[in-house]
Amino acid sequence: MTENLEDWTNNKKILIILAHPDDPEFFLGGTIARWIKKGHKVSYCLLTKGDKGSKDPLLSPEEIAEIRVKEQNQAAACLGVESVQFLDYPDGYLIPNLETRKEVVRIIRKSKPDILVTCDPSNIFANQRYINHPDHRAAGQVVIDAVFPAAGNVLFFPELADEGLAPHSVEEVWMSLTSEPDICLDVYSEWQARFEALKEHASQIGDPKAFEIRMQERLEKDENGQIRYEEKFRRIVFRR
Ligand SMILES: [Zn+2]
Repeated sequence: MTENLEDWTNNKKILIILAHPDDPEFFLGGTIARWIKKGHKVSYCLLTKGDKGSKDPLLSPEEIAEIRVKEQNQAAACLGVESVQFLDYPDGYLIPNLETRKEVVRIIRKSKPDILVTCDPSNIFANQRYINHPDHRAAGQVVIDAVFPAAGNVLFFPELADEGLAPHSVEEVWMSLTSEPDICLDVYSEWQARFEALKEHASQIGDPKAFEIRMQERLEKDENGQIRYEEKFRRIVFRR
């Protein structure tokens, strides 16, 4: 595995497409903070509004969605993200079919990112205590399928060309939440920035003090006693 190797020589336009509000900060919040600090432009597209993300029986899905959209916008603003958009597919029911693929192709062709970030669709059992959410896998699958070959080929979804959307090919895909990482970034210097952004997801994190302790317990030390906070990715760099 390589370390600290996003070896870009110019500023990149980075689009992060994931399933739920809070996924960007949980999966790669430190990396987002690092990229923005380095001058790259980061935007989000969330495929759902996370409308099932509450155990409060008094809240309707619409009310949950409203809370989570607000929290996500605040978290993104906290990190300096350029823009956030939501496609509003129902939480928990995301399916990587042709209709969702076309929507994602539309997003890619509109925003023309250099770097596209999603999560690894092949990761079903994230570890021995956690089944990866089906929406995460579906989001990864639909994004990968949209990137290649559809987004860059005019013959896919010709009605998008009628909307004036030209084919677009991204330079790289980064997949978070992967069990087969090939790049690891130590973003401990951005740990606090990520933590502050995560705190904006108040409906999701429970008691903030207990949450902070949980987050700190996950930090590791290297052989020299230096604290590390790593975010890992599977990275595809397309041949030019
Ligand atoms: Zn999620």
